[in-house]
Amino acid sequence: MSLVVCKFGGTSVASPERIKMVANKLIAKKKAGDDVVAVVSAMGKTTDELVGLANALNTNPPARELDRLLSTGEQVSMTLLAMALEAQGYHAMSFTGRQAGIRTDGTHNKAKIVSVRSDRIMETVDKGIIPVIAGFQGIDDNDDMTTLGRGGSDTTAVAVAWGIKADVCEIYSDVEGVFTADPRVCPRAKKLDQISYDDMLELAGAGAGVLQMRAVEFARKWNVVIHSRSAFSDAEGTYIKEAPDMEEAVITGIAHDTSEVKVTIRGVPDMSGVAAKLFSALASNQVSVDMIIQNVSESGITDISFTCPGGDLPRARETVERIVPTINARTYIVDEDIAKVSLVGTGMKSSPGVAAKAFETLGQNDINILAISTSPIRLSVVVDAAQAAQAVQCLHSAFGLDSDSVFVETQLSAEEIAAKMNKGR
Ligand code: ADP
Ligand code: ASP
Ligand code: MG
Repeated sequence: MSLVVCKFGGTSVASPERIKMVANKLIAKKKAGDDVVAVVSAMGKTTDELVGLANALNTNPPARELDRLLSTGEQVSMTLLAMALEAQGYHAMSFTGRQAGIRTDGTHNKAKIVSVRSDRIMETVDKGIIPVIAGFQGIDDNDDMTTLGRGGSDTTAVAVAWGIKADVCEIYSDVEGVFTADPRVCPRAKKLDQISYDDMLELAGAGAGVLQMRAVEFARKWNVVIHSRSAFSDAEGTYIKEAPDMEEAVITGIAHDTSEVKVTIRGVPDMSGVAAKLFSALASNQVSVDMIIQNVSESGITDISFTCPGGDLPRARETVERIVPTINARTYIVDEDIAKVSLVGTGMKSSPGVAAKAFETLGQNDINILAISTSPIRLSVVVDAAQAAQAVQCLHSAFGLDSDSVFVETQLSAEEIAAKMNKGR
């Protein structure tokens, strides 16, 4: 008998039928003798719709009010799942973040979990009742609702699994696990049986949206085993864990991220102090700069480009507009149609030639590289967004990751697939 946390994402609870399917999955586990604790996301695109409503009334909604609003999405799905379980004769009780004792810091919209009260959850389990916990939300020291950042129900699940010392944290989504690339973009992607925390962290950070990066960070810190698997099948998924027996692949996977933008400042005098002025101003305005590219100067004049999350663009524009005249630069341009494509693998550290092979492959496919950045286990290139899928596919083939079978979507509607493909934009 095991104690298992089962988290279901928005697609898995998108309709009453799917909530019934989730209830049946939980019941099957109970029948098999396991104790289960469920964590749910908001139904379908609810969170996006709530963000849209907020923006219709205020382009910069107060963070506290936004969190209060967004936290309602998960409260709908938790109660409906509890009702679906009760309808089948299984006792269930829903819990908000506050009721589950999920305490966070006060950083609205991307709060960090600081503690979980496991006693109430475990009392419920011990009575044979299935607790259903609202993902993505917690409560800060002022007793205000906070949310954990988009995709944050994954982090709730891992934190709850840690709090109640669960044997495993199962994260159910619409794919069978972690693949060597997003299977919707690269149909030849292969499902991995297991992946190390380090590789998964790097993939999630580079845009592989199958797990929230914070969840992987939390799991690595507290050694929580995650099993990423499909809500639509019983197949074994991917185990994310510390596994000394794992072979270090040179390239474990390829991630892409279309949510960043590139800003280029033109005609910058090539003199000391200029970069400091620009990037200090961006930092004080809360712009998270990712990559920086400075061109070779000609006659003392150069261009400086940087990339940042699309969500930071209004603040980046405002800063750059203010700074351009003070550093005597000519002008600036913004390119929103870019994508970052990243090769990730712990084995990269000891394998020279990855960059050369990647650049050669992109060159042979007429894909122009706009920027490059590296870490010991990651190589990222920025390319035109229109070429992102082609870049992922050709690199995937070149590094020998292609599967013999092709990923075919069978569960989701065309509308759901379209919404997923636009998620990063
Ligand atoms: P949920 O809504 O259940 O949390 P997500 O949409 O957050 O699910 O995550 C599942 C999606 O992640 C898949 O539909 C897939 O398109 C995307 N994805 C991106 N990269 C990967 C990857 N490497 N492996 C599997 N899925 C990936
Ligand atoms: N509902 C939230 C979101 O859409 C949290 C989650 O689904 O994990 O981001
Ligand atoms: Mg998710």
